[in-house]
Amino acid sequence: MSDLTLKVDNLHVHFPTPAGVVKAVNGVTFTLRQRERLGLVGESGSGKTTTALALMRLLAPPARIPHGSMILDGVDLLALSEEKMRQARFAEISMVPQGAMNSLNPVMRIRSQFVELFQAHGQFTSSSDIDARIASLLEQVGLNPSVAGMFPHELSGGMKQRVCIAMAVALRPKVIIADEPTSALDVVVQRQVMETLGRVQEALGATVILVGHDMGLMAQFVDRIGVMYAGRLVEVGPVRTIFRTPKHPYTQMLIASIPTLEQKKLFKGIPGVAPSLLNPPSGCPFHVRCDQRLEHCSRIVPDSIALSPDHWVACHLYPKEEHHDQPA
Ligand code: SF4
Repeated sequence: MSDLTLKVDNLHVHFPTPAGVVKAVNGVTFTLRQRERLGLVGESGSGKTTTALALMRLLAPPARIPHGSMILDGVDLLALSEEKMRQARFAEISMVPQGAMNSLNPVMRIRSQFVELFQAHGQFTSSSDIDARIASLLEQVGLNPSVAGMFPHELSGGMKQRVCIAMAVALRPKVIIADEPTSALDVVVQRQVMETLGRVQEALGATVILVGHDMGLMAQFVDRIGVMYAGRLVEVGPVRTIFRTPKHPYTQMLIASIPTLEQKKLFKGIPGVAPSLLNPPSGCPFHVRCDQRLEHCSRIVPDSIALSPDHWVACHLYPKEEHHDQPA
């Protein structure tokens, strides 16, 4: 049996606006195997959260997905009816949302929020059974079962985020998407929450997509990194390769901008601003900011090419004829 979990192919997300179509995600392709952890990184507006919401099919109208497929264990999520997709959420693919503070219902006790989730998926048996399941889930994320009787406002930020993790894994999904799950937490709690997520993922044998821009967090948590720029995946590779030998000029700048304790140097940002996705630049979308651009970069969009079976990049510095095609 293949351990392939998720294959996203040529995914596009468009937002029609009065001024034109915003192409927020533009041909994203990647494959995730079971138990793998992929980090999606990039500046604000690079399309990483939109990609995550597209995978959950939770994009708010008028967003639409004009092209692409998202195959999860042989099933194209884009081809599912609304009702089938509702059933697939939490049970097959789940999300730990950004900002747990706002994602829990403030007027419902934690227990009731779990009960609602189980009922929505036809999994309510008896009260005692449900209470045992909730207690076990809360313990799994390091919380006392008594938290079930509390309201969200009685919990700290870290506790709320753990409740969100417990809810995200309650129906044993194959894929967990975590969208900046620790952005509002202090560093100690951040670490605890990430450890919790990692532990729960391993227990489930699930795959994780971690969305964020904290490269330090990525380095500690993920196996592979996908770097997004202007709605495209511009480089994907094993985390060590990306940190040690980044190939795409944008990835190189991202890595160079990470402050370290050892090196006292001036903070080096990335010059320029992210491009408009309404009127993106022609050719390579990074050419306006790129310090290595070639003559044809402003005219021709670079294809993704594989530098090795698990490392690929979309940049004209690496001519296609010298490399293999992008891995399936
Ligand atoms: Fe720079 Fe050209 Fe590569 Fe784009 S394709 S990142 S402009 S070298």
